[in-house]
Amino acid sequence: MAETLFTKIINREIPADIVYEDDLCLAFKDINPQAPLHILVIPKKHIERISDADKDEQDLLGHIFLKAGEIAKKNGYGDAFRLVVNNGEDAGQTVFHLHIHILAGRNFAWPPG
Ligand code: 5GP
Repeated sequence: MAETLFTKIINREIPADIVYEDDLCLAFKDINPQAPLHILVIPKKHIERISDADKDEQDLLGHIFLKAGEIAKKNGYGDAFRLVVNNGEDAGQTVFHLHIHILAGRNFAWPPG
């Protein structure tokens, strides 16, 4: 599996505004924010996309999802936030290292574009 620039962020080879880290995951501000709050939560393990995840990654996936909720709440917008996972190029995925977008601080349309 080819490494992506998110691996370089994990390894501190390129800079990022990191807001949370533990043994399993890293969260950092998106370089091109689509809302006043736009944070990416990634597993440190390289999983290309959610459709490539295995059953043995269930705990890890639960962990990053829970952390995304915690991080969203702690960053000033209470319970009003959106979590997004783009899976595959046609769905808008551009970086092939699984990530949860946390978006908050503005109104969001439904259905999403
Ligand atoms: P995707 O389109 O794959 O769902 O989301 C990838 C996200 O990564 C985009 O929102 C993009 O702005 C963000 N991104 C791309 N390159 C970098 C980078 O070098 N640093 C940071 N912090 N975010 C990045």
